[in-house]
Amino acid sequence: GNLSDEDATLVARRDRALGPAYRLFYETPVHLVRGEGVWLYDSAGKAYLDTYNNVASVGHCHPRVVAAMASQAATFASHTRYLHEAILDYSERLLVTFPSALSHMMFTCTGSEANDLALRIAREHTGGTGVIVTENAYHGVTLAVSGFSPSLGPGVPLGAHVRTVPAPDPELGDRAGEVFAAGVQAAIDDLRRHGIRPAVLIVDTVFSSDGVIPDPAGFLAPAVAAIRAAGGLFIADEVQPGFGRTGAGMWGFSRHGIVPDMVSLGKPMGNGYPVAGLVLRPEPVERFGAKGRYFNTFGGNAVAAATASAVLDVIEDEGLIGNAKVTGAYLADGLRALAGRFDAIGSIRAAGLFIGVDIVAADQPDARRTHRIVNALREAGVLISATGRNANTLKIRPPLVFGRDHADIFVDRLDGVLRALA
Ligand code: PMP
Repeated sequence: GNLSDEDATLVARRDRALGPAYRLFYETPVHLVRGEGVWLYDSAGKAYLDTYNNVASVGHCHPRVVAAMASQAATFASHTRYLHEAILDYSERLLVTFPSALSHMMFTCTGSEANDLALRIAREHTGGTGVIVTENAYHGVTLAVSGFSPSLGPGVPLGAHVRTVPAPDPELGDRAGEVFAAGVQAAIDDLRRHGIRPAVLIVDTVFSSDGVIPDPAGFLAPAVAAIRAAGGLFIADEVQPGFGRTGAGMWGFSRHGIVPDMVSLGKPMGNGYPVAGLVLRPEPVERFGAKGRYFNTFGGNAVAAATASAVLDVIEDEGLIGNAKVTGAYLADGLRALAGRFDAIGSIRAAGLFIGVDIVAADQPDARRTHRIVNALREAGVLISATGRNANTLKIRPPLVFGRDHADIFVDRLDGVLRALA
């Protein structure tokens, strides 16, 4: 498609006002003006099926969430240094969804801040500074956290106290956990050789930026044991898989049979309202809490808590975890059927409504073809993007209100795009 004059003006205004650090999706950027459920609409009224947005997890602009947000904003909208029920009602309710050892909840505004706070607490508790992450991990934007987000590329240097390990390899089957843990142990040994005490192993429990790696279930356990044996803590970054997306309960870590020391939360927590946080065992935060205060002006404000509560209401009342499981399996089946017809599709990895589809040419990762598919789908009215170390994995991560009819539309349009590109 060609950029309209109106949209070309917006691009120029962005460049002038926002400067050079921002990137738009797609060769022809999309100018969105409205969202509802799994659909987004551009300024010309064209509808796009959203298969990518895991922030609007219960559906774009869900009326119940919007009403709760507006009502609290119109009543009381201040911070955590006053007594108020909203933050307590929410925390108590959310904590019930975690193993009982995880009994505290702290609030931030972004996932980046949650991970930054997790590291501060872990450093205080362990006396160490070393951080271990996977090779293509993304954990956020702060100075500390960008320093352990290797997916930002060589232009954003890793900290001297950071080590990367290969992501779990699903091809290894039952040996995936042991091999991943050996990588973590090698990183621990290397940190020590440099006089650095390990503080944390932090992973996205569905490894989304490493290409979506949910299976084999259980593979995280040996690595968690290794970091603990080295005196470090395990942080589960649930910003991507959390709040039911994998279709197997609320949290991605549970498929691995482990209980993290801390869990960071974000994106889908407020369905678009900036609310994020950290759930943690009480022990690590003891010294941190004794030494200084934690106050985050907007983190956990009454509007954030009320909005996040409404998100939980919708997840429960609309049965969205069950839907993620059932519709996710249906969609994965549809994609596997497509894979039987197109050599361009390699392996498919799925957990509920989190699906990675590798795009290949002669069985090798093909980033160019992936890029063409992403852009052709955009023209066909489907919003999606790519991920993974080789940028050749279609990342499918729609709002959890995605139904069979939407899965059919997606598979049909992907079919059309693959035929046109063949
Ligand atoms: N962790 C993961 C796994 C993420 O995907 C992201 C955001 N893409 C973050 C942390 C950072 O969250 P935020 O953008 O809210 O700071």
